[in-house]
Amino acid sequence: MPLLGCIADDFTGATDLASTLVRQGMRTVQVIGVPDGPLPEADAVVVALKSRTAPVGDAVAWSLAACDALLAAGATQIFHKYCSTFDSTPQGNIGPVTEALMKRLDAGLALACPAFPTNGRTVFQGHLFVGQALLNESGMENHPLTPMRDANLVRVLAAQTEGGVGLVPFAVVDQGAAAIRRAFSGLRDAGRRHAIVDAVTDAHLMAIGEAAALHPLITGGSGVAMGLPENFRRAGLLPAREDAASLPPHTGHAAVLAGSCSRATLAQIGLARDHMPTLELDVLANPDAEALTAEALAWMGGKLGAEPILIAASAPPDKVAALQAKLGREAAGALVEAVLARVAEALVAGGVRRLLVAGGETSGAVVQRLGVATLRIGAEIDPGVPWCFAEGRGPALHLALKSGNFGARDFFLKAFEHV
Ligand code: ADP
Repeated sequence: MPLLGCIADDFTGATDLASTLVRQGMRTVQVIGVPDGPLPEADAVVVALKSRTAPVGDAVAWSLAACDALLAAGATQIFHKYCSTFDSTPQGNIGPVTEALMKRLDAGLALACPAFPTNGRTVFQGHLFVGQALLNESGMENHPLTPMRDANLVRVLAAQTEGGVGLVPFAVVDQGAAAIRRAFSGLRDAGRRHAIVDAVTDAHLMAIGEAAALHPLITGGSGVAMGLPENFRRAGLLPAREDAASLPPHTGHAAVLAGSCSRATLAQIGLARDHMPTLELDVLANPDAEALTAEALAWMGGKLGAEPILIAASAPPDKVAALQAKLGREAAGALVEAVLARVAEALVAGGVRRLLVAGGETSGAVVQRLGVATLRIGAEIDPGVPWCFAEGRGPALHLALKSGNFGARDFFLKAFEHV
């Protein structure tokens, strides 16, 4: 039964959190969507929702359903994971989901800490920084879906919630877990229901995690989850695990599918094409899903084996813009995603059992098409991108889902040395 039950508001954020927990010694499984059956065996289960920008009512309903499934499986603590840039609108969904979970869990106070110092996200005096810039001057003020125009998280959360919001400031956090715990009690006694917690270093995150050992609900970015596994070990509930990242041995053929047009992915393709059989689909010249799929299927025949092959739709910005001008932005993306999802299905049918997918949306389309239900999280190839063992409707396989800009230039090559 899981000790820690997590609810994440998007897919790649869920994987990021799951990887953090594995690094800290918890065997972790990510479940895609609200679980509809028994949960897999693990120390921590992360339910990946797509609720960040969903209507508030949907986000609350899905999160509560996920919470109920995690509690029924035995989880003793719930973690509500959102983005380290606190992506939300004045209506939510961070505040309303947190308050619904608090009610369900009978929690008196919920801490909120999106800090992720390794990635430059820090909270000081309640203000969120991205690198050296305040959140509202970091580019996030122009986000198409969740523009963040105020870096003061006490104010931002207050606008989304009914319970009062207080702050545990740097000067307290820096004194360690006991001081933080006293501050939580003080806020609760003063009638506050939410606590924004400052954190500038990983040591702060570890202390916050320790101070929250008995909280039924914790909310934040993946960073603050860092301190939680140690609480379970201290309580004698979690054995020391050397093998938290171990996955079943791999079998079968290897392939890379790229649908990301991010700079990092284009560079990775540039290097890989000299080292592995590579097909680069020219989507602009031939924007026809049937024809592109047929081209990929014909090309891959006879090439599948232990050595990876690469199929990419990725293109530089001018070509992407030209296709978008021709078809519209959404239709262009949907066309390529549909082609790559069908190619993924054909690769698996052809015996591929180690599949690396580049691109966040592309990964979503592939996972959906393959009917993946759970991902057991293994070791990271590069920060934020672990190999996973995927199970669901089709055959089980090793899957690595890479957010476009992640990974070093030789990522596609070294990935297969790791699995
Ligand atoms: P990232 O993680 O880099 O943002 P995504 O997969 O999330 O990558 O997004 C890339 C989008 O670009 C997808 O919708 C994909 O279908 C689309 N795309 C891929 N290749 C092309 C292309 N040649 N022209 C236009 N759009 C493309």
